[in-house]
Amino acid sequence: MRSQAMFFQRRAGEALADARLRRNLDGLRDKFVGMRARAVANYEKDFEELRDAGAAIRDRVLKDLDVWLELFEEKATARGATVLWARDGREICGHVVAIARRHGVKKVAKSKSMLSEEAQLNVALAAAGIEPVETDLGEYILQISGNEPPSHILAPAAHKNLDEVADLFADKHGKPRKTEIPALTREAREVLREHFLTAGMGISGGNFLIAETGSVALVTNEGNGRMVTTLPKVHVVVTGIEKIVPTLEDFATLMRLLPRSATGQDISNYVSVCTGTRGADDADGPEHTYFVLVDNGRAGLVGSEFQEMLRCIRCGACMNHCPVYQTVGGHAYGWVYPGPMGSVLTSLYTGIENALDLPHAATLCNQCGVVCPVRIPLAELQRKLREKQSERGLRPWPERAALAAWAWLAQRPALYALATKLGVRYLNRLAGGADRIRALGLAPGWTAGRDFPAPQGRTFKELYKTRQERKA
Ligand code: SF4
Repeated sequence: MRSQAMFFQRRAGEALADARLRRNLDGLRDKFVGMRARAVANYEKDFEELRDAGAAIRDRVLKDLDVWLELFEEKATARGATVLWARDGREICGHVVAIARRHGVKKVAKSKSMLSEEAQLNVALAAAGIEPVETDLGEYILQISGNEPPSHILAPAAHKNLDEVADLFADKHGKPRKTEIPALTREAREVLREHFLTAGMGISGGNFLIAETGSVALVTNEGNGRMVTTLPKVHVVVTGIEKIVPTLEDFATLMRLLPRSATGQDISNYVSVCTGTRGADDADGPEHTYFVLVDNGRAGLVGSEFQEMLRCIRCGACMNHCPVYQTVGGHAYGWVYPGPMGSVLTSLYTGIENALDLPHAATLCNQCGVVCPVRIPLAELQRKLREKQSERGLRPWPERAALAAWAWLAQRPALYALATKLGVRYLNRLAGGADRIRALGLAPGWTAGRDFPAPQGRTFKELYKTRQERKA
């Protein structure tokens, strides 16, 4: 994990040089951004009020998280489910493998669960002799590509285009190559159907846990979630403790936000609320239901200056609108969660010393905060993480020295003005009369991939002084 999240700059450089990836990402950006904008514009009420309501629900939960979790456990247990708790990835894998062994399971069908990515659950299952089969189409593509990591939380294979998927299917399925999306999805469905029918256990994530009913809510567009949760005899939900909402009404409010922010849909194709085990009158459903509720760094954020991050409902809007994500894609971030939410979560869950580049993989333009349906101030959290890195002396010494010098100067206006004048003179000399600087001598990284604008006209202080004089 450390080696992955530490190398954002190298990975971003590789992504920038990959023309095919850049084309794939361009298509993705136009699609997601446009769809969300239309959905918000067409929302019949005030979308900003809805965002306030969503943030308030998430804050209410986080204020009394233990109380809502206990209520959830009580209600889920009363409906025949077993609730287990996991502190970290090791405990998640331990619980899931033990459940599979208890029920003699040799194959599991998986619906998308980011937490199973956090825990590397597939590796643990395979090591225990249990075959994991991803059934979300994107995750399935990544699995048969050689267990590639996801590059987007909603569209895990967003970095691949149609041609790449067509080649992959022809190679792995041994069938004639197809180039139309419906034909490819039909082929995937045929392959996966067999797995749904032969898997002894289904593993899903959960978009929300509803405390008052002890239910898990799944929001998907492919229907695989329903197959995973109803066909196998055993259903295991692996999800984070922060996914809880108090009531069905709160769930309904958040469901007005989630699909609109994620895919620009008024409602997703499949919204399933699963409660307990199969009843005597039920046509289908699991005989055994387990919830593995996971901390993995979440509880430590409650009450901290980063608590707002736990409001996240995993819609993906922040990454869809982030100029950095749009340019380099998800793999550059090196762990499970990419984009602005990933730069904060990876730092918090894996330790800020293990993700030094990530809070800096942002322009702080705050477009992420503008579109976040639950008003997480992502740019502010990224800035706080930068501050923490600085306080702990984790930044490179030239950067720390430069900032210390700047802070010292900023408190001495006369010296600051003099330094600015000298700096401007130096930059003008580098520009040599042009309006762009091709190579910044003292900070060559700035101009390694683009020009730097030469100083134009007067300094801010000079402009301010003139304006004050005019006013007077
Ligand atoms: S941080 Fe906000 S915008 Fe990003 S995934 Fe979470 S809820 Fe969506």
